[in-house]
Amino acid sequence: MDFWREGVNPCCLHKRRDGTISKTDEYFGREAKNEKAMMYLLLSSARRTLASRWICQSCRGIKHASTNVASYTPPEPSKAARELRNGGPARTRFAPSPTGNLHLGSLRTALFNYLVAKATGGQFLLRIEDTDQKRKVPGAEERLYKDLEWAGIEWDEGPRIGGPYGPYIQSQRTAIYRSHVEQLLESGNAYRCFCSPERLNDLAKHRQSHGNGSEYDRKCAHVPKEHSDDRAAKGEAHVVRLKAPDKYPVYNDLVYGLVRQRGDYKQKVPHEQYDDPILLKSDGFPTYHLANVVDDHLMKITHVIRGSEWMSSTPKHLAMYQAFGWEPPKFAHVSLLVDKTGAKLSKRTGSVELAEWRDKEGIFPEVLNNFVSLLGWSHSEKHDVMNMEELIRAASLKFTRGDTIVAFEKLWFLQRRQASRYVSLPPSTPYNPRHDINKLALPLLLKHLAERSDLPEGPPPTEDFVRALLWADAQNYTTPSEFITRNITFFTPPTSSDLRNTLPSLKLHNIPARANHSVPPSFATEFASLSGIEDWSAAKLKAWTTELMEKQLRRSLDEVGSDEEKLRDLFKKAWAKAMHGYIRWAIAAGKAGPDGAVSMAILGKEETLRRFDLAREVMMGVVDDGADMFAPNGEVESGSALDQETGASDGGDAGGGRD
Ligand SMILES: [Zn+2]
Repeated sequence: MDFWREGVNPCCLHKRRDGTISKTDEYFGREAKNEKAMMYLLLSSARRTLASRWICQSCRGIKHASTNVASYTPPEPSKAARELRNGGPARTRFAPSPTGNLHLGSLRTALFNYLVAKATGGQFLLRIEDTDQKRKVPGAEERLYKDLEWAGIEWDEGPRIGGPYGPYIQSQRTAIYRSHVEQLLESGNAYRCFCSPERLNDLAKHRQSHGNGSEYDRKCAHVPKEHSDDRAAKGEAHVVRLKAPDKYPVYNDLVYGLVRQRGDYKQKVPHEQYDDPILLKSDGFPTYHLANVVDDHLMKITHVIRGSEWMSSTPKHLAMYQAFGWEPPKFAHVSLLVDKTGAKLSKRTGSVELAEWRDKEGIFPEVLNNFVSLLGWSHSEKHDVMNMEELIRAASLKFTRGDTIVAFEKLWFLQRRQASRYVSLPPSTPYNPRHDINKLALPLLLKHLAERSDLPEGPPPTEDFVRALLWADAQNYTTPSEFITRNITFFTPPTSSDLRNTLPSLKLHNIPARANHSVPPSFATEFASLSGIEDWSAAKLKAWTTELMEKQLRRSLDEVGSDEEKLRDLFKKAWAKAMHGYIRWAIAAGKAGPDGAVSMAILGKEETLRRFDLAREVMMGVVDDGADMFAPNGEVESGSALDQETGASDGGDAGGGRD
């Protein structure tokens, strides 16, 4: 179904392998009875907007989100996106070696292949290239599956689930490679090489000392076939080499256009040398070159999307397709990821492993996909924030040439956007663990808090407390560490010296001189009446602050003896600003954070009252100290050596701060 045409946001829908819609029931045993029921759930009202239909904040931009879904039509697919789809269903593959953890570059390769398959209604295959037994790392295969599953890149054929062209683990396919090598030996396109490693070594050294490459001199190509068969039958160690053509085929790369092997170097080089690539190693295992060509052919791969580091090997692979008499797939080589200095992306310049981003930084799976998708791919969507469904919809082969600089700022931007979107999902949304900020962020926050050393002694913050803060400030969520630092005043109350160092400018702004009015010093004492609030909720606190503002406004207007509308508006604005400044100062020493009422609700009644008490003491102390705090245009001075004991609590016109 076309979700967009149906007016349904596909954000929360995840297709199963068999093409049906949702995974939710699998995860949670909830019954997603039918598509229609899920549509209704999706269409239910948004918590944030109370609109009749919910639309992904990330899709529309949080600040500019319109609630009218009917007015939203997704952009026309770009020319590149249409071209890709016109080519028919694509079969693509991700073929990693289990030699380590999945890193950003390989995640991107997997994702590009996945998107192209999904966008064209084709299949995405996973194939494990483990023929280099020496490089195999124990456990790496399992980690790979885990990483891909976490990212939501599910394979249609591959290990664990099988498929019509299996097995999908190369070490289980050695008989297939050998029989194909036999074919090439028969047809004369390959030959056995019996040279000892020592001879090859000497050859390479000799060539290199003459400034040439380490290619082979084709000595064994002249061994007659019968001799070669005989020596092999007797068990003599050998490799099998491809007899490379005199000229490598030119090919049309989907990204780079026509690509030809550099020069016809055979003629330029004085000594006979050939880069006859090894197909079968002496241990009987195939090389990457052979295995990937045979497998791509047998598995009916139509598009090979891989890193441009493979570009120089592609002519060899095409020569092999030629030797077999096979039609090659299409090739698209994607840019290399580099850091800001142009060096290959490495651990040195920032984390590169998926597991690290997931486990240490708490990056959400959708965010990491979105981030890597934008590295070296250009789209014509209106914005960069895309979930998987949107990525599939926009997928194309419009990859950029050359290196791609990875700027991690974008990652944080995307993380904030998605976090904000997750908390705006209506509670009735079909459950998707990839959208559950409580699962994605809360455990890491609690873990981080437990490990943090700069928090005051005492019982650790409760889960409810941290969850409330997370939901209140999700739009600023990047990593656990940064989030807690940003909101540190929720865990470490401001001290009186913090408060003295950050005194708010308590003046009424933009009040005309004729009104000549200032904030009464009694203002600081007004907050004592917060203690009368029984139902300590953000809504109640909001109402309370609004009431206090109205009260101050009335008093100001009474004092200046005017009820002029223009003056009223000015006072209203001025008081709103002054109150906001005072509240932020009292509860957080002026630091930015969630809305004042929301912050007070999270802190709880006791803690909030304690903070306002201390704030009043500090403020009244400054007043008693003779500082000119309340002058309409007076600059705020930071007092020193203040006597905190002088804080007046009776709400009178204490001190001489007024003019
Ligand atoms: Zn040889």
